[in-house]
Amino acid sequence: MSKMEEEKILDAAVSLIKKLTEKKGETLKIVALTGSGISKGSGIPTFRGKDGLWKNYNAMELATPQAFRRDPILVWEWYAWRIGIILSKDPNPAHYALVKLQEKGLLEWVITQNVDSLHFRAGSTNLLEVHGNIFRTKCMSCGQKTMLIEAPSKPPICDCGTMLRPDVVWFGETLDREILLKVDDVIRNNCDVLLVIGTSGVVYPIADLPFLAKMNNILVIEFNIDETPITQVADFSIFGKSEETLPKFIENII
Ligand SMILES: [Zn+2]
Repeated sequence: MSKMEEEKILDAAVSLIKKLTEKKGETLKIVALTGSGISKGSGIPTFRGKDGLWKNYNAMELATPQAFRRDPILVWEWYAWRIGIILSKDPNPAHYALVKLQEKGLLEWVITQNVDSLHFRAGSTNLLEVHGNIFRTKCMSCGQKTMLIEAPSKPPICDCGTMLRPDVVWFGETLDREILLKVDDVIRNNCDVLLVIGTSGVVYPIADLPFLAKMNNILVIEFNIDETPITQVADFSIFGKSEETLPKFIENII
C-alpha cells in the first residue's frame, strides 16, 4: 500500500470518529487492546521467537509452571534479565497518545496483553493487564502480592517463607477469570470503538475480542505493522509503526 493510500485510510477513520463524537460527545467510549507491537517502539523484545532467546533457552521452556517447579532459580534469573531490559527502556509515543485520549475522557479502558508495565509508566490508570505484570509477584501459599522495583538478584521470598513467583500468565495456564469477565463486560457494554494496537490476534482468548466487538456492532480500528487475522474484521486497518500512526490518529480526533 502506498503512503498516500495509508494517509487516506487514516483520514477516513479520523473523520468517522469525529462524526461519532459530534453525535455522542464525551459519551463516546473508546477501548484500546494492545499487544507486544506497541512495546516494540520502546525497544522491548517480544520474548517469543529468537529475540527472546536467553542462555539458549526459549520462552516456551521457561515461562511454564513445570519449569518453575523444576528450576525456580533459573526461571527467576531469566525474569531478572527481562526486568532489567524493561527498566532500561521507556514508554513511546503510542503509550503517551493513549494517556492523552484518557485525559480527554474518551478512553474507557486499555486492555493489554503486555506484562511490561509501560502503559502504567506512561500514565494510563484504566488498565486491564490480562497476562499479568512482570513487576508483580505472588505467593502460591498465602496469596500475597507484592511489587518489585528492580530486578531481583535472587528469587524473592514471601513473609510466609514461600518463594514468590512472577504474577504473569504462563504457557499452559488460564487467564484470571475475574479479569476475563471484566474484559467481556467492557466490550459488550462499555465500548463504541475498539482500537487494536500491535497485536496480531493469535493468542487466545484475547484474539477473539475484535470478533466479539464486531458482533456487537463496535467500530474496530487496527494499528499493526502489516495485515493480521484481525484485518478481515477491522473497519479500518492502519498499517505502520504504532508509535507513528497512533499519535497521528489520536491528535486528529481529540
Ligand atoms: Zn506467602
